[in-house]
Amino acid sequence: DAARAIEHIRVLSEEIGPRPAGTAAERQAAEYIASVLRRYGYDVELQTFPTPDQYIAAVTLPDGTTWQMGASRNGLITGDDPVRGSVVFAGRGLSDEEFPADVRGKVVLMEYVASARNVQVANAVSRGAAAVILYSTVGSRGNYGSAFSPSLSTTYDIPILGAALVQGQQLRDMIVQGGVEVSITTRHYANLQSVNVIGSRPASSGDPDAPVVIVSSHLDSVVGAPGANDDASGVGLALELARVLKSYNIDKELRFIFFGAEERGLIGSSYYVDHLSDAEASRIVGVFQADMVATSYPNVTHLYAMTVDGASNLVTEAAMAAGARLGNASILPGQFGSSDHVPFHYRGIPAALFIWMRVDSWDPLVYDIEKVYHTPQDTIAENISPERMQTALEIIGAAVFDLVRKDVPALHKAPHRWQEAQAGVAAWVARYDDTDPYAH
Ligand SMILES: [Zn+2]
Repeated sequence: DAARAIEHIRVLSEEIGPRPAGTAAERQAAEYIASVLRRYGYDVELQTFPTPDQYIAAVTLPDGTTWQMGASRNGLITGDDPVRGSVVFAGRGLSDEEFPADVRGKVVLMEYVASARNVQVANAVSRGAAAVILYSTVGSRGNYGSAFSPSLSTTYDIPILGAALVQGQQLRDMIVQGGVEVSITTRHYANLQSVNVIGSRPASSGDPDAPVVIVSSHLDSVVGAPGANDDASGVGLALELARVLKSYNIDKELRFIFFGAEERGLIGSSYYVDHLSDAEASRIVGVFQADMVATSYPNVTHLYAMTVDGASNLVTEAAMAAGARLGNASILPGQFGSSDHVPFHYRGIPAALFIWMRVDSWDPLVYDIEKVYHTPQDTIAENISPERMQTALEIIGAAVFDLVRKDVPALHKAPHRWQEAQAGVAAWVARYDDTDPYAH
């Protein structure tokens, strides 16, 4: 039921909002996920681990709206003592003509030029700026610019902020429409702990050494981004599969893992994999990592099951077989890293990333994902498709179900086993429509 999955996206991306690793918001997301899993009867464990410092700014508008941006560690850290000022636009801030006549005491907004950032900031500071906001025009994957923490060669005693493109554009619009006064705080968050949420259901036999199938996603987002598709969509999909699969007989352990600090370099999944004993690692037969599984971006064409080396494995084969059984041609195999399947791969555990994209070429890799990736626009309204979520739920769900369901030996040898498998999938899909009262 895509609507139930999207309700989880709503809680994470709208009620909680941006969830940078190690912040209170990330922890709130973890607590929400843990509470849902406990309600479904899963054994829940929270695994905490260190994650790097964050430098985060809060920019409050006259109507009380607060935007999250990155803060420079080389600028003033205000703590609770905000810097206020009206915002002026200074273009790229590289020449006199670009600056308004008087920027003293003003918040100077500029279009970020990475190679000239030190000059940009120095020019604003020398004119008496109260704060600087640099907005990024382009992201690293062809996406719109993301919030960022500007890295400078000099230290300044005013706040220096890195904004997303859409934040810069909206501030510019407000300036044109009569001006805008903002209140800025910057904070340095140190000694941070992030968290993995692990929910498990033992094999129906109770065998503690039963094989394990993992469905995973990441609960954090980048600074400034509500992360509706990246990756509240994966969280929502996994929680919905946890609900649907909670009462089936299974001959393997089913484990749902929600990793923290993915966006800081796969820290949560690396920590998890590093702390598995060889015996524990060898029990894991497959990892389904759902990351960006419901975008509404029109250009994407397929739900890819991506492995790090491009080779097929139990996970991609189960997904392709599920697509075939369901008559759904949306699923294709591929090769991609950049998510929490990577540490498992390097431990020799079959794992795949599930993600919607369009791939024009594999060698060299040319692909297209949504422009709002890692921006404040990664919201349900702008970036979530119920249809794509439903497709991902059906294919990943059917594949996971096929791997964990209790195998009946007599049927296993029967000539028409595929019919039994289809019946199992049909029952599973029908299960989507049950109407258990839902509340959180
Ligand atoms: Zn992600």
